[in-house]
Amino acid sequence: MGEEPLPAPKAAFNNIATWDLLEDLPVAVYTCDKHGYVTSFNKAAVKLWGKTLEANKDKWYINWQIFNIDGTPLNLEETPTARVLKYGKAVKQQEILIKRPNGSISYILSNPKPLFDESGQLTGVVNTLIDITEQKNAEAKQGMLASIIESSEDAIVSKNLDGIITSWNNAAQRLFGYTDEEIIGKHITTLIPEDRYDEEELIISKIRANERIEHFETIRKTKSGEEIQISLTISPIMNKANKVIGASKIIRDIGKQKKAEDRLQQYAERLEILNSIGQVISAELDIQSILQKVTDSTTQLCGAQFGAFFHNLVNEQGESYMLFTLSGAPREAFEKFGMPRNTAVFHPTFSGEGTVRVDDITKDPRYGKNAPHFGKPAGHLPVVSYLAVPVRGKSGEVIGGLFFGHEQPARFTKEHEQLVLAVAAQASVALDNAKLYEDIKQLNEKKDEFIGLASHELKTPVTSLKGYLQIIARNLPAEDRNKLLANRALEQVSKLTTLISDLLDVTKIQTGKLPFTYADYDIIKSITDLREILQQTESSHQIILNYPLERLIIHADSQRIEQVIINLVTNAVKYSPKGDRVIITGAVINNKLRISVQDFGIGIQPDQLERVFSRFYRVENLASHMSGLGIGLYICQEIVNRHQGRLWVESTYGEGSTFYFELPLNTPTN
Ligand code: ADP
Repeated sequence: MGEEPLPAPKAAFNNIATWDLLEDLPVAVYTCDKHGYVTSFNKAAVKLWGKTLEANKDKWYINWQIFNIDGTPLNLEETPTARVLKYGKAVKQQEILIKRPNGSISYILSNPKPLFDESGQLTGVVNTLIDITEQKNAEAKQGMLASIIESSEDAIVSKNLDGIITSWNNAAQRLFGYTDEEIIGKHITTLIPEDRYDEEELIISKIRANERIEHFETIRKTKSGEEIQISLTISPIMNKANKVIGASKIIRDIGKQKKAEDRLQQYAERLEILNSIGQVISAELDIQSILQKVTDSTTQLCGAQFGAFFHNLVNEQGESYMLFTLSGAPREAFEKFGMPRNTAVFHPTFSGEGTVRVDDITKDPRYGKNAPHFGKPAGHLPVVSYLAVPVRGKSGEVIGGLFFGHEQPARFTKEHEQLVLAVAAQASVALDNAKLYEDIKQLNEKKDEFIGLASHELKTPVTSLKGYLQIIARNLPAEDRNKLLANRALEQVSKLTTLISDLLDVTKIQTGKLPFTYADYDIIKSITDLREILQQTESSHQIILNYPLERLIIHADSQRIEQVIINLVTNAVKYSPKGDRVIITGAVINNKLRISVQDFGIGIQPDQLERVFSRFYRVENLASHMSGLGIGLYICQEIVNRHQGRLWVESTYGEGSTFYFELPLNTPTN
């Protein structure tokens, strides 16, 4: 059927030439008779219908679903062609939507006109159908782009190469205050502060060269004349021939962002200042130094001319007194007037009511209320701007106040107040620590005093006891059983004597009064003799002396060096309950005598190695038979140090320890 020649064009068109012309037209054309049966159609119509209709058999709408342009269905009787058939009048360019059986949709511009015969009777319709789908899609896209631009948060503006503004969105209106009527057609310099006109030349030259400008931060002027911080991104606009014809600008208000950045920067700086002040004051344990550092740093921080820190303290007798430090003013300036009195101005600070920040204290109602000065005493520092912050202790009680002054009004801001408050908080922690440290120091001193006193008092009766026991033991015959008991008692009294004299030594070390008597003597002989004696008392272990030399004269306090060796050997035995030997080794290394005492006992954990030399320090959880006071090694270290020597330990936990000490062979006396 499709191969048949197109049906009877002559029925509607009066000559072949016209029909030939229509046949190849890119616009669909068809005719139908007065009943709606198609009578002729061209190629474009076949394409548009999506199939070939049969002339005089198919009606013009055969293939489609037809809709209004808004998508609502269109009744057949209301379609343009039907209306022409019904009323005999042309319909001009009605837009309709058609849907083909394969689902494809097209926008169609329908142009049906009536056909009449010579007698004026309606014979049918000729219709041209134009497919406007592409155009419609482009319009929709345009519309979407326009609404994106309109709803953008950023101002979007375009201008031509002469700098004339050609478009202006809502955000631009919000940012600059001009409506599009007011600004479109005006020159872009309307928005540029005069001192920045050069920028425009630079921008235009870049745009002409087809270059983009990104995130260019600058200042622009609003309708009200306010200067605002913005970031500009500018792109060239090209015409179809790729020629630059203008520029589009995206303008972002970065005022808020800048402010946030500045704030952040300010916070960071503030944090840094506070940190460094915090570090400085927390490293101090001396109250007066803390007060001074806090006063100096806060005075500087808030730009005050003078600053003062008054600190209430209570002494041992329970009396309160006040320390104070100053910055920026000589002490005499304050001392003349004594401590701040409980005046109306100072009251809120010392009572802890809160911060007082006044631009002009001389105009403050609290000022000048109290006799006798009524205002600041004559000769007082010239304070106009005034800032005072209470400083609180751990439990919230006011322990003092920070006061700042400046002779100019309105010098102190909220920012200053916050900084001072932050330092005040740090100061109170540091002061609490210093106070604790002070208390501990005092308690320690009391304890030392007590130990010194107690051991001194114990020493005389124990010495007498030892004397009487010696007489008793000596006077008893060898076979008397009581002699054994008396000797045992003597051994215990000896231990007690050693303990008491160790405690006395500690006290003497503390007060720097441990006496030394230096002399030349043969240390080899001394150690050899000592080993004999120690072997008798420490019979559980074999005490081995490992020394190649016969004789070595050193200049030292022989009693004290023996005391060191006895201490190390008794420890070696005490802390190696499962061991059976202790090795004393001597060697001369680099002109130093090195003695070591090695055991095969419990050993010492690495983190304890240094601490065992501290006063009263004992490793935790020692077995109950390993009793002691934790002062032996402390005394040993003092003795060795006083000989310009060195004492240290190497140990493997669970395997044993070796204590070493070194003495220089040319020890100077001291
Ligand atoms: P004391 O032995 O009276 O406790 P010292 O000052 O002599 O006091 O020793 C301090 C601590 O060091 C001891 O309590 C113990 O924990 C540890 N110590 C000392 N010598 C040894 C050793 N040879 N082996 C293991 N631990 C030791």
